[in-house]
Amino acid sequence: MNVVSIMAHQDDEMQCLGTLLRCRARGDRLAFVTLTDGSRGFVQQPEIDPSEAARIRQTEMDELASRLDAHYINLREPDEFLYDTPPVRLALIEAIRQTRADLIFTHFHEDYNLDHTTVCAVVRHCAMQACLPVLPTSSPPLEEHPAIFMVAPHGPVLFPASHFVDISQVEDEKVALMACHRSQEEAMRQAVGAGFDRLCRRLDGYWGQAVGCDYAEAFVPQRGRGAIKPYNVLP
Ligand SMILES: [Zn+2]
Repeated sequence: MNVVSIMAHQDDEMQCLGTLLRCRARGDRLAFVTLTDGSRGFVQQPEIDPSEAARIRQTEMDELASRLDAHYINLREPDEFLYDTPPVRLALIEAIRQTRADLIFTHFHEDYNLDHTTVCAVVRHCAMQACLPVLPTSSPPLEEHPAIFMVAPHGPVLFPASHFVDISQVEDEKVALMACHRSQEEAMRQAVGAGFDRLCRRLDGYWGQAVGCDYAEAFVPQRGRGAIKPYNVLP
């Protein structure tokens, strides 16, 4: 199975990375897509040139992806100013086709960040269009609609989690992989007073407690056309 994380920013895969590791262990191929260039991720350092910031984010995400033998596609839209435009839709349709996505993880439709909710909306639309020949791109259309699950949002949003993956065995590996985002480790500490280790273990521990294991990731299926399967796709 081809499993694709489609997120706004480099590090947003945090909410599904443990599940991706479980997928990889069962033989799935992984891919990462980010829609923005991450150039506004240095939240307390406005003096950093956006192109240099984008280069750093790309390098960090490249490292994480390469450690998992995963393909990484960066659509490089301007961070914090992602808009749903015809070029964005076509680029995302092509990314979904190119990765031959069977299972997609993306943002929830309610979230603290507008880039996140925009990604959620365009994934719903573009995953459907990826199956239809009406919008041609470099790669051929998908034969089947991918399954889509939305990840838990950050911030004070009610998330009606219905699907859970036990990631207790891979939590340490997940935290170690997130450390590839060195620049964001520092930015997170400045912005929310916690690095990836604490952020991951706090949320994954919360969901784990809800379902009776040490660490878990929680999901909601996206109600797009063909996106809910009558069989189990999660590990
Ligand atoms: Zn983000």
